[in-house]
Amino acid sequence: MGQIIAIANQKGGVGKTTTAINLAGYLSFWNKMTLLIDMDPQAHATLGLGFNPEENTGSMYDVLVSGEKLAAIVRSTDLDNLRMVMSNIDLAGLELALAEEWDRAGILQRVLEGVTEYEYIIIDCPPTLGLLTVNSLVASSHIIAPVQTQFYALRGMKLLLNTVEKVQRSYRDCILHLLPTMYQGQQVADRDVLRVMQERFNSSLIKTRDEVLVIPKNVRLSEASSSGTPIHLYSPDCVGAKAYEAVAQEVLEW
Ligand code: ATP
Ligand code: MG
Repeated sequence: MGQIIAIANQKGGVGKTTTAINLAGYLSFWNKMTLLIDMDPQAHATLGLGFNPEENTGSMYDVLVSGEKLAAIVRSTDLDNLRMVMSNIDLAGLELALAEEWDRAGILQRVLEGVTEYEYIIIDCPPTLGLLTVNSLVASSHIIAPVQTQFYALRGMKLLLNTVEKVQRSYRDCILHLLPTMYQGQQVADRDVLRVMQERFNSSLIKTRDEVLVIPKNVRLSEASSSGTPIHLYSPDCVGAKAYEAVAQEVLEW
C-alpha cells in the first residue's frame, strides 16, 4: 500500500487545498500514481482541478455511507498519473448519515486498506475537526497541517494537536508535519510567528537538510487554482512552485 497523506487544519483559508493540489500535482508529474480525494463539501480541490462539483458523479459520501466501490467514483484528470475523487454537497450530510455506525472514525481507513493501485493518496480536508477530517486523519500515515504565518495562527494549534494525539493513541501512529504557508518574510509579524513555530514545534517542521520549508505568499499560487491548474503547469519557475516542489521532494523520502 502507498502513502496516505491528509492535509488538515480546522482553521479556514490556510492553504490546505493549495497544498493538496500542488503536492498531488508534483507527485503525479514525477510519475507517481496519485489519487487526490476531495473531502471538503466546499469542493475547492474539485474546482481547483477544473471539475464542476454540480456534475455530481459521486463523492466519498457514496463510498462511506452507501458502500459504493471507490473505483466507481474515481475520475481521470488532465494529468497523466493523477486521479481524483470529486466532492459534492452530499458530504455535508455525512455526520448525520453515519450517526449510527459503530466505528464512525475508521470507515475511510477500512475503505483505503484495500486500495493498492496508488503510490500516493492525498486527502484535502474541510476546515473542521468533524467526522470528515477525523476519518481522513485515521486513514493517513502522514498529516500535513498548513499553518499561516499570522498572529492568530498558533491559537488553534492546540486543538489540532490534541485531535492528532487522540488518533495516534486510538488508531495509528501517524506523523504530523507542520507547513508554514503564505509567508511574507519582509513582515515582522510573519518572521515572529515562524520563529515561535521553530521554538515550539521544530521537530514537526518539514526540512531539507537543515532548512525549514516554508510556502511564501505568491499570487501565482492563487492564480493557478482559479485557473484550475496545478502550479507546476501554470508557472513552474515562480517561488511558490519551487516551494511546493521542495515539499514534494521531501514527501518522496517519507
Ligand atoms: P478552506 O479552509 O476554506 O478549505 P484552505 O485552507 O484550503 O481553505 P486554500 O483554499 O488553499 O486554503 O487557500 C485560501 C486562499 O488563499 C485561496 O484563494 C488560495 O488561492 C490562496 N492561497 C493559498 N496559498 C497561497 C499562497 N502561498 N500565496 C498566495 N495565495 C495563496
Ligand atoms: Mg480547502
